[in-house]
Amino acid sequence: MAEVVVIGAGVAGIQAALDLAGHDIHVHLIEREPTIGGHMAQLDKTFPTNDCSMCILSPKMVEVARHPKITIHTCAEVESVEGEVGRFHVRVRKHPRYIVEDECNGCGDCTRICPVEVYNRFDAGIGVRKAIYKPHAQAVPDVVVKDKEHCIECGLCYDVCGREAILREDEERLIEIEAASIVVTTGYATFDARNKTQLRYLTIPDVITSLEFERMINASGPTGGKLKRLSNGKPPQSVAFVQCVGSRDIAAGRPYCSGVCCMYAMKNAVLIREKNPGIEVTVFYNDVRAYGKGYEEYYERARNLGVRFVRGFPGEVLAANDHLMMTAENTETGEVETFHPDLVVLSVGLEPAGGAEVIARMLGIPQDESGFFGVADQKVGPVLTVKPGIYVAGTATAPRDIPDSVAMGGAAAMRAYLDVIRAG
Ligand code: SF4
Ligand code: SF4
Repeated sequence: MAEVVVIGAGVAGIQAALDLAGHDIHVHLIEREPTIGGHMAQLDKTFPTNDCSMCILSPKMVEVARHPKITIHTCAEVESVEGEVGRFHVRVRKHPRYIVEDECNGCGDCTRICPVEVYNRFDAGIGVRKAIYKPHAQAVPDVVVKDKEHCIECGLCYDVCGREAILREDEERLIEIEAASIVVTTGYATFDARNKTQLRYLTIPDVITSLEFERMINASGPTGGKLKRLSNGKPPQSVAFVQCVGSRDIAAGRPYCSGVCCMYAMKNAVLIREKNPGIEVTVFYNDVRAYGKGYEEYYERARNLGVRFVRGFPGEVLAANDHLMMTAENTETGEVETFHPDLVVLSVGLEPAGGAEVIARMLGIPQDESGFFGVADQKVGPVLTVKPGIYVAGTATAPRDIPDSVAMGGAAAMRAYLDVIRAG
């Protein structure tokens, strides 16, 4: 029977793969990172239920890994696509991992002995990793990857690995796949907060992004879930969230609402106040957009916990003695107020994942004015593109939350399923 290619293994792609495999369709799940899971694996809790993100995602990742109908291709990117619905020819380039995947059991001995520490992208910059590493403890596949760029070839990992799973040299490989249809779930990137120079991201250590905060508050993150000021390691006494950083901002080229930032900031504010009622939390916002089921009630919960919402945008963030200083006009009262938080969290917006334009060109599907993949007609089906047999889902199409991404992944899977049945 014909097969399906799913490009991108975040939660939408994982859902699409599981739904197709559940209907006995063979799926090739292509992921450019060394693990599947996407951004959801980086998050601490999910709104509005405060469920642990990995408690929802990890069982799905494990199911994908064990499913006989799913082939995972990590460190891999689609290089070309030819053909049409029912008979696409997809060429995938698998980048070298420098590991014999079938031999590595993920024991971590090599990681422990490796002397090289570098910036850890998974921890969004507030943690470090080794030159041979697993992106995180629940990575799938449960296999390390060697970062050739930073490896100093000291040889310690080769000596410690009893399974001889580490390669000194490795090569790219091309994989050819025949597929009836293609589901694109390449996800999102976050706005680069350095573009808002007045907010001093990467200039003042205690100005961090929301993704960095997710890693900081996560018990399995680099601080063990403890809130810390990066300037001095002390716990903050006051935290300020700044909304719409790279959203609803025409000057920054991001005129759209990122949809999820109000809720993730509220969720993080609630988590702070529930665990540490002594920490003052202020959210600077344009408008609170709490549009989903249970979201307005969550907003109420945040206010009842003492989170202060100030309608206004701070002009700039300054370092002032041991604190930060921000001035904002409270547009509800007309007062100009000055704040001295210890930690500022920038609620960065969502934008198309890097390389979206390459995929769009390769597949012959349009991007909208913001760079997200365009759909043929929202009313007919939010996962249909102009190209028969190619479907889009999740945040690759627009900013959206986890439940919507999962629903779209399932919808795209069912469209792809029909193509497989028709292809025979
Ligand atoms: Fe363990 Fe070897 Fe795999 Fe490293 S490469 S995790 S030492 S099996
Ligand atoms: Fe780390 Fe490279 Fe040395 Fe292995 S050879 S321990 S990856 S620096």
